[in-house]
Amino acid sequence: MRITFCIIFLMMILILVICTTAAWRSPKKIGKPVATLEASLIPPILGNLMIVGAPNELAAHIGYYVYFIGMDLVMFALIQFAVVYCMGAGNGQKVPKFIYGLLTADMIQILLNPFSGHVFDTEPLIMDDNSVYHRLLSYIGQIFHRVVDYCILAGVILIFIIIILRNPRVYREKYSIILITMILAGLWQSFYVFSHVPIDRSMIGFGISGIMIFYFALYYRPLRLLDRMLSDIASEMPEALFVFDPNRICIWANEQGRRLAEIHGSNYEKASENLIRMFGNSKQPSEPDRQVIERTVGSGAGTKYYILEEQEVRDEKQKFTGSYLRVRDVTEEKRKLKREMYNATHDTLTGLYTREYLYQRIAETLSANPDTEYLIIFIDVKNFKIVNDIFGNDFGDYALQCIAEWGRNTLSDDCLYGRLAGDTFGICIPKAEFDSSYIEDKISNFVVKTEKAEHHLLVQLGVYAADRKNMDVSVMFDRAHLALSTIKDEYHTHVAYYDTEIRQQLLWNQEISAQLHNAIESRQLCPYLQPIADSSGKTVGAEALARWIHPEHGFLSPALFIPVFEKNGMIVEVDKHMWRCACEILSRWETEHPDLFISVNISPKDFYFIDVVSEIKNLVNEFHIPPSKLRIEITETVMMNNADNRMEILNIFRQSGFIVEMDDFGSGYSSLNMLKDMPVDVLKIDMKFLGRTKDSGKAQKIVKNIIHLSKELGITALTEGVETEKQYQSLAEMGCSLFQGYYFSKPLPVKEFETYLKTAQAE
Ligand code: C2E
Ligand code: CA
Ligand code: CA
Repeated sequence: MRITFCIIFLMMILILVICTTAAWRSPKKIGKPVATLEASLIPPILGNLMIVGAPNELAAHIGYYVYFIGMDLVMFALIQFAVVYCMGAGNGQKVPKFIYGLLTADMIQILLNPFSGHVFDTEPLIMDDNSVYHRLLSYIGQIFHRVVDYCILAGVILIFIIIILRNPRVYREKYSIILITMILAGLWQSFYVFSHVPIDRSMIGFGISGIMIFYFALYYRPLRLLDRMLSDIASEMPEALFVFDPNRICIWANEQGRRLAEIHGSNYEKASENLIRMFGNSKQPSEPDRQVIERTVGSGAGTKYYILEEQEVRDEKQKFTGSYLRVRDVTEEKRKLKREMYNATHDTLTGLYTREYLYQRIAETLSANPDTEYLIIFIDVKNFKIVNDIFGNDFGDYALQCIAEWGRNTLSDDCLYGRLAGDTFGICIPKAEFDSSYIEDKISNFVVKTEKAEHHLLVQLGVYAADRKNMDVSVMFDRAHLALSTIKDEYHTHVAYYDTEIRQQLLWNQEISAQLHNAIESRQLCPYLQPIADSSGKTVGAEALARWIHPEHGFLSPALFIPVFEKNGMIVEVDKHMWRCACEILSRWETEHPDLFISVNISPKDFYFIDVVSEIKNLVNEFHIPPSKLRIEITETVMMNNADNRMEILNIFRQSGFIVEMDDFGSGYSSLNMLKDMPVDVLKIDMKFLGRTKDSGKAQKIVKNIIHLSKELGITALTEGVETEKQYQSLAEMGCSLFQGYYFSKPLPVKEFETYLKTAQAE
């Protein structure tokens, strides 16, 4: 009997040692408190082992000491365990110090027993097998010991009860099992304490409690809790979820799933049928365990988009146990994506493609249809700024919408149509569909009408045949745009083609631009001089006009190269060269023709690129020429931009002694009103601009008045383009003081001009 208990106790101790080691190694926070508790259970059992197996009274006494002190240690460990387990470590929960004080006091008073004998003694008891068992005789100290331990145990039990009551049901299991173990162990222990039955069998309860605490504290997972949570997650998730058995019969669906598959009550079996009706057979037997597919259901505005994700479930032996299907409604996401895509690729005002997207689509279309011939069309509304200014931006916007609408109604699905920028649109159309006379007819009468206003829009089309498919779309549109610039009679022609002429022009531009530098160096580019006469017919000066004596193309008039260089900015090189040449001539004339002046042209572009004033000042300084000999011709367009600054420049010229001439007066925008503020000395009135007026009597009056006005403003009038004696005479009568034109002479090479001077003088 005693041997049996000894063996049982030994086994308990062994198990507790194992639990202690395992708990100590656990990375969990509760690991250390559990290890301490497990370890603390060893002394009481060890004590009882000594009592049961004691060969004499002393050994039994030692056993009792180990047992009692061990119980205090158990209490120590229990409180610490309870605090961490129930309240979580590190939450600031501390064991009140007086409890440790009590336990320490109890241990001391127990250890004093050998001297005082106030705690316990033993009496020998003859057992059935004639062995002696030393039964405990309790005294007052023993009662103190019991009170302390029971109070602490009661406290710990109370903590557990409070925690159980405070926590949701799913968590209670975790606490209640340990609580019940503690209560049972406590009761069992009490039975032995108070019944005086020899051999404390309740130590077995201690061991079992230790094992239970070890397991529940460290390894137990609240499965019901997990269960509940997982099913909550499944029910609450936004996707529809279906669970199927191995025969693909639905056995469960969450709320969303029930709604989607129209499951009523618990008629889950219907779900499989309904799902197949909606999405077709989503799962093919040969396919992998998990598959994701997209499905579109319905059409038109009610179209819905779903993502179906089906996963097979297998047990540990890889046996197929069923599957689940998640169905996600992605309609909103798809729509949002489509909307975003639309906004990124469509112009807000007209709903047409944006330029970038149009280019992209055209590039795609051209490469996808290598055998179809396409035309690239650039549409431009002429003077659209004026439409905006006169009728307001709302009308302007509406007009653009009308053009967009026209395109939508006129063009087939094979065409691509977009807004390139402000008032320009782009089209890519199969050549076979392009009916030029129809389009010409339509757009020549493009009228935008609202309740308040009606306006005839001047719409023009530039067309480029997209024959080179590897060319950049933007370049094709540039060419179509370029074609527009060839329209001369803009009221009768609305469609222009990029043709050989334009191509030639482009090549020409490239050729002469590449040659300009050399042409200046080698003096192929040189000034011709056209005489300027006074009212007596005497030559008083000349205008320097550029000519290019080209080694290959021969004599080039400025019309062939000046506009090209005006456009690309190279005009600056031409003008600087011409100014220098004029200065060279003037310096040569210093002795022979000291009274003659030369007028030079200044392009509006010059003002953008160089400091015209210091450039010209430096030249006259270099050649020692009086500034009044080099006259400055500027056109009205110079004044169009940055008028204040340009006036300032002209003033500086005049203050420096130069004479400033306003060229081509009447050709552009300048008003007579502007004239009074213009810091100019000479007004060049071009007869060819007046020639535009059909009524020659009217033209005469205009010239006369301009001449009078200029006189009143103290500005010298110069008429250019004088071709006949009659013109010369009547202009002189009107009071014009200077004349230039074929009547006197065409522009002449410098040598010829000098000969001309001599013959004129001789006459
Ligand atoms: P512009 O400055 O108005 O020059 C006058 C133009 O009228 C010259 O044409 C001249 O030959 C022409 N002309 C003169 N008298 C008559 C006439 O009685 N009847 C007719 N029908 N025409 C006459 P050109 O030399 O061909 O120059 C054309 C334009 O080229 C010039 O017009 C000027 O704007 C520009 N240009 C010429 N040389 C230069 C230059 O060196 N620099 C700049 N920036 N432009 C220049
Ligand atoms: Ca001129
Ligand atoms: Ca002129």
